[in-house]
Amino acid sequence: MPELPEVTVISEDVAALALGREVLKAAVFRPDVTNVDPEEFERRLVGKTLRATGRRGKVIVLDFDDVVGLVHLVISGRVLRLSEWREPDRMNTAVLELGGEGEPVVLAFTRLWLGYFDLYEPGDEDKHPLISRLGPDPFSEDFTVEYLTSALSRKANIKGLLLDQSVVAGIGNIYVDEVLFAAGVNPSRKANTLTTEEIKKIHTATCNILHRAIEARGTTFDSYHDAFGETGQFQNQLKVFTRAGEPCPRCGTQIVKSRIAGRGTYTCPSCQPL
Ligand SMILES: [Zn+2]
Repeated sequence: MPELPEVTVISEDVAALALGREVLKAAVFRPDVTNVDPEEFERRLVGKTLRATGRRGKVIVLDFDDVVGLVHLVISGRVLRLSEWREPDRMNTAVLELGGEGEPVVLAFTRLWLGYFDLYEPGDEDKHPLISRLGPDPFSEDFTVEYLTSALSRKANIKGLLLDQSVVAGIGNIYVDEVLFAAGVNPSRKANTLTTEEIKKIHTATCNILHRAIEARGTTFDSYHDAFGETGQFQNQLKVFTRAGEPCPRCGTQIVKSRIAGRGTYTCPSCQPL
């Protein structure tokens, strides 16, 4: 599932490919890919210029001036550049052709089987169910140690709270495990038992790891690729995630896999004692 780093990379790739270009064609495969009628999807996008791209949590924001596209890739979705226009199908669930200097750029939003490409009026995107309840972005100035301390003053386990998009926007299972390993905190710990020092470590690790993951252009296990079809490289830097049975890079103890907050969870029992 693309998390903050992957969505950031995709959003920047789309900008690199298509910023300032005008939509010539737009189509979706099935009505449930978007929140408007397929004809309206086409009508509202054609003739519009891509002014900016961004990210809210795990949602890609495409700013076409008087209409805003919100793309959620969920598990299998990707954005790919196609060599030429192709009518949408089961794989290429939404397709845009953007004209401008040189050859047109065709972008396919592929495999949005659980995801979507919704259209909103500018300013209304805050009402989107996935955006309206988002907590602060880890790269925003609202994401402070003080904020995190108050958000974590609850009895729930720390892993579940960090996965909760209303606590921190954009991070998911991969990066939460890496952050908690870096901070030396067991994912089962009740958040309200964390010390100030531990919360500071979680805060620092969140910023550092997400930053490094973006620099490595994300983590690729299976389906994630950037818009140029390239894989990310951060999987090579993961310390615990998917490394059950391997020695901990810090102390040599075997990494163990368990289930916490309903998700496969990787920890070092020595570095992250309960
Ligand atoms: Zn260890």
